[in-house]
Amino acid sequence: MTTSVLFAVNIINSDDPDLLVVLFNTSDSVAHKYGTNSAQIKQAVEEIDDAIGSIKEAYRIKGNLDDTTFIISSDHGMDDVSVNLTSALVNALQSTNIPFENAALDMGPFDSQTKIVYNLASGAAQIYFRKPLTSIEQSTLITALSNITGVANVYDRAQLDQMNTPKNLGDLVVDCDVGYAFSTSAAEHGSYAQRHTILFFSGRGIKSGFSYAPVCRTVDIVPTIYHLNGLISPSTVDGNVLTSILTAQG
Ligand SMILES: [Zn+2]
Repeated sequence: MTTSVLFAVNIINSDDPDLLVVLFNTSDSVAHKYGTNSAQIKQAVEEIDDAIGSIKEAYRIKGNLDDTTFIISSDHGMDDVSVNLTSALVNALQSTNIPFENAALDMGPFDSQTKIVYNLASGAAQIYFRKPLTSIEQSTLITALSNITGVANVYDRAQLDQMNTPKNLGDLVVDCDVGYAFSTSAAEHGSYAQRHTILFFSGRGIKSGFSYAPVCRTVDIVPTIYHLNGLISPSTVDGNVLTSILTAQG
């Protein structure tokens, strides 16, 4: 058993937690390294499946199984990367004649002439306006980035606000089509295309054999947990209670 499962099983045995969160991150790191169809990712997923089985077994031995709700989710999907667009991004930035630097290569102090700083994370590119750009510079920049083959979208700050992204994500985010990324990894998840993920609820308070048809979101997990425990979500919590998955008692 992996360390996180041993910890989880020990907590189940020695305590009576109201909420137990166990993170399995090998599926992420292994897919980044070997890709989503590799023998290695298949093995990683099987190990996670075994680990979930061990946790469920610990609850059964403790006698708490019928009293427990299990939620299995991931924070993103993943797609294999066929084309690394990093050099295409650099070429596009150069074509605008706006002075730029890469934040990862040079954490600063940036050159006094530098107007744009870019950062690459999880396959997407974040662009920061270090100094105000003229409207012509902004439109030249967005056009150059949008014209990169494999770029799906260039989101500006207003669009990013609508998506509830934090301000420090950047002034522009360059989002790639499936198969493309600003990354040398075998697989990535920084784009809108990888927002689809798994979400399973089972156990206490949950209808069995029920498939939820409408779109739900990972932010719906927390309010549903509050509801299952007879609590009201604080106003700072996003998302909705997934009432249609709950039994009458739930
Ligand atoms: Zn990752």
